Amino acid sequence: MSILRMTAEQAQAHQKRVRGAPVAAAPSKPAFTMIEGFARARHWWVCLRCLTAHAKKIATCCADAPVQHCASGAEANRLRELVLLQRAGQIRSLRCQPEYECIVNGIRVCTYRADFAYIACGPEDYGDVVEDVKGSKKHQDRASALRRRLAEVTHAIVVRLV
Ligand SMILES: [Zn+2]
Repeated sequence: MSILRMTAEQAQAHQKRVRGAPVAAAPSKPAFTMIEGFARARHWWVCLRCLTAHAKKIATCCADAPVQHCASGAEANRLRELVLLQRAGQIRSLRCQPEYECIVNGIRVCTYRADFAYIACGPEDYGDVVEDVKGSKKHQDRASALRRRLAEVTHAIVVRLV
């Protein structure tokens, strides 16, 4: 879905529709131990195969499975939930740290980096679901709120705080 092909009215209507889209709910039985308490403030490296959250940076965990850096325990928890949801077929095209260039009148203003983006599988196609994990330090200041809003407007997306 490209903003370039949408009028302002279409983009607004699209955003309104996307706001009504269901957020991928946490799996009922997570196959991992949630990171809680003080540990949530740390950086984690999550193996995308076995979903182990490593407290130290590692190059590999299971054979050649990719390892994803997460800036907080909350982010690592959400990543592992989303990987499980993707395996269960509830979402697809999961991406970490997706970047959205914010261009206004042909001028690049900034780049907004969300935590996750994916497509919800279901009868209706809502396009990308973009998520920011609440509590991440990088999302608390006003400049980042402005970047997020700018990305929403220029890309006709809705960023969900989870
Ligand atoms: Zn592993």
